[in-house]
Amino acid sequence: MAHAPRTTMWDRRLPMISGSLSAVAIAWFVLVFVYGPVGPALFGWLLSPVCLAVAAAAGWRTGTDPGVPEPARRFWRQLAIALGVLGASVVSQVVDAVNADLSMTTRVGLVTSVLHAVATAMVVWPMLRLPWGAPTRGQLIASGLDVAILVSGAAIFFWHFAAQLMFDAAHRTTVGAAVILTVSGLVALIAIAKMAVTASATLDARSLRMLRAAFLVGPVAAALTPLLAGKTYLDTSLVIMPIGSFLTVLAAARQAAAGAVSRPPARRRYSMLAYAVAAATNALLIVVLIQGRDGVLPIAVAAVVLTALVITRQLAAMRENEQLLDRLDATIIELALKEQRFRLLVQNTSDVITISRIDGTASYCSPAVERVLGSTPEDVLGTSFFDRVHPEDLDHIQQQLATITAEDGATITYQIRVAHADGTYRMLEITSANLLHEPSVHGIVSNSRDVTETVEAHERLSYEASHDVLTGLANRALFGDRVDAAVRRARAEQPISIVLVDLDDFKTVNDTLGHAVGDDLLVAVSERMLAAVRPTDTVARLGGDEFAILFEGLGGGDVDRVLERIADTLAMPVDIDGHLLTVRASFGVVDGRGGDDPGNMLRQADIAMYEAKERGEGGYQRYRPGSEARGAERHRITEALSAALERQEFLLHYQPVVSLPDGRLTGVEALVRWMHPKRGLLSPADFIPGAEMTGMIVPLGTWVLREACRQAAAWVTELGPEAPGTMAVNVSARQLQNTDFADEVAAALRDSGLEPRRLTIEITESTAIGGGTTHETLRALHAMGVRLSLDDFGTGASTLSLLANCPVDQIKLDRSFAPVPGPDAIAGAVLQLARAMGVEAVAEGVETSAQAEKLVDLGYVRAQGFHFARPMTAELITVGITEPASPLAAQR
Ligand code: C2E
Ligand code: CA
Ligand code: CA
Repeated sequence: MAHAPRTTMWDRRLPMISGSLSAVAIAWFVLVFVYGPVGPALFGWLLSPVCLAVAAAAGWRTGTDPGVPEPARRFWRQLAIALGVLGASVVSQVVDAVNADLSMTTRVGLVTSVLHAVATAMVVWPMLRLPWGAPTRGQLIASGLDVAILVSGAAIFFWHFAAQLMFDAAHRTTVGAAVILTVSGLVALIAIAKMAVTASATLDARSLRMLRAAFLVGPVAAALTPLLAGKTYLDTSLVIMPIGSFLTVLAAARQAAAGAVSRPPARRRYSMLAYAVAAATNALLIVVLIQGRDGVLPIAVAAVVLTALVITRQLAAMRENEQLLDRLDATIIELALKEQRFRLLVQNTSDVITISRIDGTASYCSPAVERVLGSTPEDVLGTSFFDRVHPEDLDHIQQQLATITAEDGATITYQIRVAHADGTYRMLEITSANLLHEPSVHGIVSNSRDVTETVEAHERLSYEASHDVLTGLANRALFGDRVDAAVRRARAEQPISIVLVDLDDFKTVNDTLGHAVGDDLLVAVSERMLAAVRPTDTVARLGGDEFAILFEGLGGGDVDRVLERIADTLAMPVDIDGHLLTVRASFGVVDGRGGDDPGNMLRQADIAMYEAKERGEGGYQRYRPGSEARGAERHRITEALSAALERQEFLLHYQPVVSLPDGRLTGVEALVRWMHPKRGLLSPADFIPGAEMTGMIVPLGTWVLREACRQAAAWVTELGPEAPGTMAVNVSARQLQNTDFADEVAAALRDSGLEPRRLTIEITESTAIGGGTTHETLRALHAMGVRLSLDDFGTGASTLSLLANCPVDQIKLDRSFAPVPGPDAIAGAVLQLARAMGVEAVAEGVETSAQAEKLVDLGYVRAQGFHFARPMTAELITVGITEPASPLAAQR
């Protein structure tokens, strides 16, 4: 109920008035009883209606109190009206008394009797309407029997004492009034009995008890009527009304104070009353028998009937009790089983189950805590859970608990670190439920699971999935994510730069010094790069010797400066396993802006990187629009060349090298051709540059080497001593940079069975000066017995130191220096130089006999050129050797 009961003032004032009035009435009654009539007799009569009026007022107050629930309110309104009518009947009785000279033994008038009966009926009516409050049929029967017993007992007493007296003094009342009084008295009795056995859900229990007392005052006082024999100026009603009224006022006040009836009706305990009534009736029978009075029979019958009723009631109660007990037993067993089941569940689950108060103090803790946290439940009980929580997680858990304590029954799941007895912290996943409102729990129930391993494994997995294991740098996936995030985060004008870094010659380190050194070098490189960038920049290892850097809020010259710094630090020698290593890197840079497409940026960085790599020598390239086209071209060439290799569209032509002056074939040079399905036979100038650019020269060169060796060996087998003495193979710089090139040559020789001395590797001057690996490879080849020839001599950056350091066996004077008639300084000087260095000199591009003659004059003994023979197929070479007289051989 929303309204608060009106307990102020009224609670005290009306009961006080009523109490005072009834005190005065009792005092007056006692005084008159002891000393005889004192004062005006009307005084005693007037108190009753006043008391009833006060009681009616009190009842009405409660009946209209919005704090009192509706069925009770109606009850009190009805009772208030009834009390008003009762007051009127008393006033009428006073009028009767005044008419009879204020004698109490007056005749009760018909109006008074009718008013009295109506009032009684009105008082009784709400009582009878009170619900039985008996939940079962057995209890209903018991209640009915109780009513019957109480009414019968009271009736027999009433009959024996009051009614007999009344009828004895029949002259004092009319028969009609007597009948009305008797009937109304009986009905009142039923109502009182009903009330006595009712455990009402409508009225407040204490209020009901007081009403019962109020209504008992009547019969009890009436039973005292015989004491008043001879005292005509007194009547029991003179005290019945004030006392009854007072108790009614108290009941009304109580009901108003209680407001809603919230407690369930108490189990009634009035069966004792039934025994008492039966015992009293039997006692009355004995007294009447001893005294030998009249009217034994009705009392005897009543006693027997009452006793039978009590026994029946008792039997009914017993049966019901038995049934109840049976049900109770079953319920108890079931409860015990349930309880045991839950206890076993809680105690054996691997989760820790705790009940704690808001302050974290545990009031229950399941045994699993020993396994999870190393403490016994006893250690935990009474201590605060918060004491064990990791200090950094305290805020978190308190926040979590605050959210659930705000709402009854709310649950929440969270992860926090909790101290183990061994001093470590375990990660617990806790589900807490707010059962503070639940009387059986009255706390926060938490279910905790140790997820330390799971969380660690998860963290490890996600770290491994996003980081490079060797260097600890971000990996490709994480780098991509970072670029995405940076582009999304940055404003449109904010610069974002991506740099791809590729180490030059890293493979060499790996191949020559071993993977362990290679790994250490990568770690050193990653450390140096990290040290050169800002902490907010992301350095990633994309794989192998490829790195990437993401600069947020940095672009243009600022990035260039950082990259210069990186290049400088990389160039500083690092000692790894006793090797002093320096690193050169190529950088591909792309300058982007917030909102750019991350995929595009990465692609552009890749293109820039390729261009940088292509330029070699620690290249640095910023992406320029149009680079894609070059990239696409490179891609196209790569595809075409590898397809051609696959389809075996390459072939070798061989150009004889002859001796001077006789023009005898001493060897051949292998020159690659591409039999293009659409464009016909292509010369090296059409595809070698593309093969060099794309790196396809490496597999192509391998094929040339193996095919040339195979052909040379075949000629040896076929022609014996007539076979060309040497097979020259052109090798590009890219091939020589591969550390395993020497092995590859060895394998080609072994597989073909060609003697090493019959193989000549032709390299250009620029190739010969390129880097340490090339040099080592050349030495290895030389050691193997393979001849080395310096091609296009004179066009490149030839130096004497190169000739001195490079283990070459031959130089090929470039055809641009093929001598013209007349004095020729270069061809002669080169020959002098070759002689001085102890190497063979070959003149290339000899197209005319004049040139040939001049070379002979200069002292050349080897030459090559169209004048002697064009490059031709292996078959034609064979024919030229075996059939010197043939037309083809005449070309010489
Ligand atoms: P190169 O190594 O200097 O080879 C000689 C080139 O000069 C050949 O051209 C040959 O046909 C040409 N030649 C020979 N005698 C004369 C002459 O009297 N007058 C003129 N004008 N030219 C003459 P080719 O076959 O077109 O080869 C061109 C270049 O392609 C070669 O120059 C060589 O550097 C490269 N090359 C050819 N085959 C291969 C190969 O298998 N691997 C590699 N890496 N490069 C190759
Ligand atoms: Ca050559
Ligand atoms: Ca040449």
